[in-house]
Amino acid sequence: MRRPLIAGNWKMNKLIPEAVEWVAGIQERLPGLPDAEIVLAPPFTHLAVLKLRLENDSLIKLAGQNMFWEPQGAFTGEISGAMLKSAGCEYVILGHSERRLFFHEDDAAINKKILSAQSSELKIILCVGETLEQRNGGQTEDVVKSQLQGALEGIEVDDDLVVAYEPVWAIGTGLTATPEQAQESHAFIRSILGSILTPEDSLKIRILYGGSVTPDNSRDLLGRPDIDGALVGGASLAVEKFCAIIASLN
Ligand code: PEP
Repeated sequence: MRRPLIAGNWKMNKLIPEAVEWVAGIQERLPGLPDAEIVLAPPFTHLAVLKLRLENDSLIKLAGQNMFWEPQGAFTGEISGAMLKSAGCEYVILGHSERRLFFHEDDAAINKKILSAQSSELKIILCVGETLEQRNGGQTEDVVKSQLQGALEGIEVDDDLVVAYEPVWAIGTGLTATPEQAQESHAFIRSILGSILTPEDSLKIRILYGGSVTPDNSRDLLGRPDIDGALVGGASLAVEKFCAIIASLN
């Protein structure tokens, strides 16, 4: 049985006082919500502050939105896996389409980051997904397959890995994959994971959907057999919306 995971990716949003207020809000509401693993990826500068707030809270876990593959050194502006770990992170998001697009990260770079994250004992949320052009050109499966194989080459994969299927055309656009489209891609991703691991072990890996998830569409998406949770961007900024998405797991 895969435990649902709902992750919030704040991207470059919120100042520390707003973040602290959000955490207080979710701590108040979570006890009444369905069971799920909750992961929050705030900006790096907020992590240690939020970790202090979450010290006695085992329900909410922190994630980095990115990291560099080197453990330390002269890499101005970068942050290592060990730094994320020491700031209280259990997870790191890698391969987000905004990293691929704006910071030119390719599968080889993501592969190095995964290796490095594993050596820092961070769990990985690996994002994959096609652009609209690729979808319209019938390339969705080829793209997702090569992103998965490229990122996971030589990596020992276990059920700590989380994959997020995030069609690029659905991120921050208000366009959402239909539950049928999402389920189809998730089932395909699981089949690829089955060829990397074994079909049986692929059943233990959680595959999240991301791309304009809101309380209005979450129930339909989360009800599909291979959709094990959501990676939520915009709607995670408002604690009420994020909690409504968690509530739709019921
Ligand atoms: C994301 O940033 O991973 C994301 C899915 O964003 P949004 O929910 O805003 O589309």
